[in-house]
Amino acid sequence: ESNAGKMCVLVTGGSGLVGRAIEHVVQEEGGKLEGEEWIFLSSKDADLVDVGQTRALFEKYRPTHVIHLAAKVGGLYLHMKSNLHFLRDNLKINDNVLQTAHDMAASKTTYPIDETMIHNGPPHDSNFGYSHAKRMIDVQNRAYFKQYGRRYTAVIPTNVFGPYDNFNIENGHVLSALINKTYTAKKDGTALNVSGSGTPRRQFIYSLDLGRLIVWVLREYDEIDPIILSVAEEDEVSIKDAVEIIAQSMDFKGKILFDTTKSDGQMKKTASNAKLRRYLPNFTFTPLKEAIQMTCSWFVANYATAR
Ligand code: GDP
Repeated sequence: ESNAGKMCVLVTGGSGLVGRAIEHVVQEEGGKLEGEEWIFLSSKDADLVDVGQTRALFEKYRPTHVIHLAAKVGGLYLHMKSNLHFLRDNLKINDNVLQTAHDMAASKTTYPIDETMIHNGPPHDSNFGYSHAKRMIDVQNRAYFKQYGRRYTAVIPTNVFGPYDNFNIENGHVLSALINKTYTAKKDGTALNVSGSGTPRRQFIYSLDLGRLIVWVLREYDEIDPIILSVAEEDEVSIKDAVEIIAQSMDFKGKILFDTTKSDGQMKKTASNAKLRRYLPNFTFTPLKEAIQMTCSWFVANYATAR
């Protein structure tokens, strides 16, 4: 079977938070163009830690383009427990996907990354395993370009949230874990337990906004150098601000407690979106309140099946 002239986009991590958002943008918002094929893969299709399974997947679909979203990922507390696991699995996944894409001549790859000044200084100790694996993607992208002229780039989103996230109270990222905790506290008439002091600050990006931006990167962004996909610096909020928006969205009137015996993680990791703004001065981000509200509604409506 030949893909001559036909664009076939393979999306790894296609059933995750960002993959589902891209699928929505492609299938429901007219993001897909005439004659294109988009394939959304999940961990059920192959274990990308395994090079044989990765190759089999690429041989089956013969993609012309790859959006590589798959990663072993958790919230702050899971990363703290298993840095070695996150380092090794992500190094293997990224090497398998990049090298297989190179062998089969697929032309562009993007990734989500959590770091800002990616090679400056050591990453925060809480998630050094995950962070070092992600930094190496940029090194590898540059090497594929230098040695083979391949055009792979990396996207660096700040904290992502939205429908289909992992809402697990222990392992989820902050907004999703807190949405689940708030739902449970309201149901049981108990207090809402926020981990840490509430003072750390984060820039949150709604998964649908990120999905739209990644499709733009695939089509229009030609640099090898990575691009930060984030809301503006002045849209950074404290965990406490975010908790209040969640409580309001879910009509939670109970007590909110801050458990300062739990880690705060990094106090801030403010990212500049100036480069993105130079390319896309008019892109509108969904306002945080609205996006949190939609995520809360999605969670309540999908409580039975949400992860
Ligand atoms: P990070 O941005 O990489 O640190 O990861 P997260 O998205 O998991 O956010 C962690 C921040 O949210 C830390 O400051 C935590 O103290 C705070 N936080 C408050 N409550 C929770 C919770 O229930 N789960 C998580 N993961 N973080 C929480």
